[in-house]
Amino acid sequence: MAETYDAIVIGGGHNGLVAAAYLARAGARTVVLESRHKTGGAATTESPWPEAPEFKVTRLSYVMSLMPPTIVNDLKLASHGYKVYPMGPYYQAFPEGGSIKLFADDAKRNYESIAKWSKKDAEAMPAWDAWLAGLADVLGPMLLIPPPNIGSRKPRDLAGTLKLAWRNRGLKVRTIADATRLMTMSIADLLDDWFESSQVKGALAVNGVIGTWAGPYEPGTAYVMAHHSIGDIGDGHLGNWGFQEGGMGAVSNAIEAAARGYGVDVRVNAPVSQVLVENGRVVGVVLENGDEIRASTVVSTLHPRTAFLDHIGEKNLPTDFARDIKNWKTRSGVVKINLALSELPNFTADPGTELGEHHTGSVEMAPSMEFIERAFLDAREGKPAVRPFSDGVIPTAFDKTLCPDGTHIMSLFTQWVPADWNLEPHTSELEAYADRMIELYDEVAPNFKASILHRDVVGPYQMEQEYGLIGGNIFHGELSLEQLFHMRPAPGYADYRTPIGGLYYGSSATHAGGGVCGIPGWQAARAALADRKVTKSAKGQRAAG
Ligand SMILES: Cc1cc2nc3c(=O)[nH]c(=O)nc-3n(C[C@H](O)[C@H](O)[C@H](O)COP(=O)(O)OP(=O)(O)OC[C@H]3O[C@@H](n4cnc5c(N)ncnc54)[C@H](O)[C@@H]3O)c2cc1C
Repeated sequence: MAETYDAIVIGGGHNGLVAAAYLARAGARTVVLESRHKTGGAATTESPWPEAPEFKVTRLSYVMSLMPPTIVNDLKLASHGYKVYPMGPYYQAFPEGGSIKLFADDAKRNYESIAKWSKKDAEAMPAWDAWLAGLADVLGPMLLIPPPNIGSRKPRDLAGTLKLAWRNRGLKVRTIADATRLMTMSIADLLDDWFESSQVKGALAVNGVIGTWAGPYEPGTAYVMAHHSIGDIGDGHLGNWGFQEGGMGAVSNAIEAAARGYGVDVRVNAPVSQVLVENGRVVGVVLENGDEIRASTVVSTLHPRTAFLDHIGEKNLPTDFARDIKNWKTRSGVVKINLALSELPNFTADPGTELGEHHTGSVEMAPSMEFIERAFLDAREGKPAVRPFSDGVIPTAFDKTLCPDGTHIMSLFTQWVPADWNLEPHTSELEAYADRMIELYDEVAPNFKASILHRDVVGPYQMEQEYGLIGGNIFHGELSLEQLFHMRPAPGYADYRTPIGGLYYGSSATHAGGGVCGIPGWQAARAALADRKVTKSAKGQRAAG
């Protein structure tokens, strides 16, 4: 006899755990099935060096910003260890000398820092911040609503479209124009409209290309910047990011603890190989070991190609939908480099190995937009970037739980290697790429190379094979215009429902993903609960969030 639950969640990444917590909170007997030996997916803390288990790194994702207070509060995550330290400033030390710091919430110090490079840019910055804040007021709340099924004439869909129009009835011509610009422009063109100095533009361009298979001159990158700038960490400072104590795995652990508290069963080493469908409705799943688990509600949080093409099969899906999923763009050319350091980087521009403010935020290697663009062009021409760019952070500036006293962990989120490096390990080339990345930091902080005790280089192949991030894309799919909002993951299916009855979809490949925000998991659970199939065995129990 197959085991039976009210709900099965496939994937124990943070979205799967959020979905399970909400389902169980509403009374559904829920199981999470995770293929790896541990939960967390891309939000994971690990010890990659067997010879030095005392060093822990936040192996893939590294900073928090987009998780809404609704989820944090509903699931009481703070009581399960959710604790985020606000990051310090963006910091870039320039090879030609000097440095720049950009603060999320200190206009006066921003002025001083930027005026060293351009007085005009220093004066423009408050207006830029206000402009972004205005757009965040429009775009931020949109992250929390299921996109309407634009174009559908079904009453429920029409109601959704009208509701969206009504919500936005107060928008002015100028705001709509600004939002349109944001959606269609390149970050380079946008920044050229506002600023003149390459130092400021380099610092602001990074958010436009994070996790993106596009250089700063590609249309659409302005929106990527906004996606990374409209969150806060619950502290009300827009665009602020923070370090979770214990690394990003501790975010997943907190959600898992909440889910278990509501009665969720969490199974690791439990890879799903098939989703069972009878008469167009989901009835359960089959594990790789052949075990069958039955449930009338299933939430998948895997990459769309795995969730739909592998687990359901093209022939069981509507032709248009299957084609959309096959054409889903899922490149990014990201390489994560995790380092254990014997001491903090000693920057020529801001000397000292004592903890300084410039160690507490992003420690960038993106000196100009041209530098970033060159790295992308290298990869698009089929070779790893000769001079990669990096969004670096040193979480141990705050978090003392990751490594022994006196040492530090540094995480370098770097781009780009060629888009097809998900197909082969490219081990020695990745090591050479990491050498070059480290060399770039060494140019501005000459103790850097010598301070490295251990290093861990995770490229697209490992991301795909070990973590299920197909194509190596960090968000289960690119944040490109044709894959946003009502198109994410496919037109007609952006409401966290799928062509299969009872099957819901809540991975980062849905609206509001990617990032460690939990919104897709939350919305998928809400859709399932709204359809009232899942709680039929638990009538009368509390409704979910
Ligand atoms: C290098 C890197 C850096 C990033 N940096 C940040 C950052 O700093 N901040 C941020 O907010 N976001 C960041 N992101 C993005 C963010 O981590 C992801 O968008 C998010 O973690 C995805 O969560 P998820 O639950 O949707 O999917 P995942 O985390 O991918 O979870 C899916 C889970 O499903 C499991 N699985 C796969 N196949 C099966 C199967 N057949 N059966 C059962 N289980 C299966 C996987 O093992 C995994 O645990 C980063 C991502 C990467 C890769």
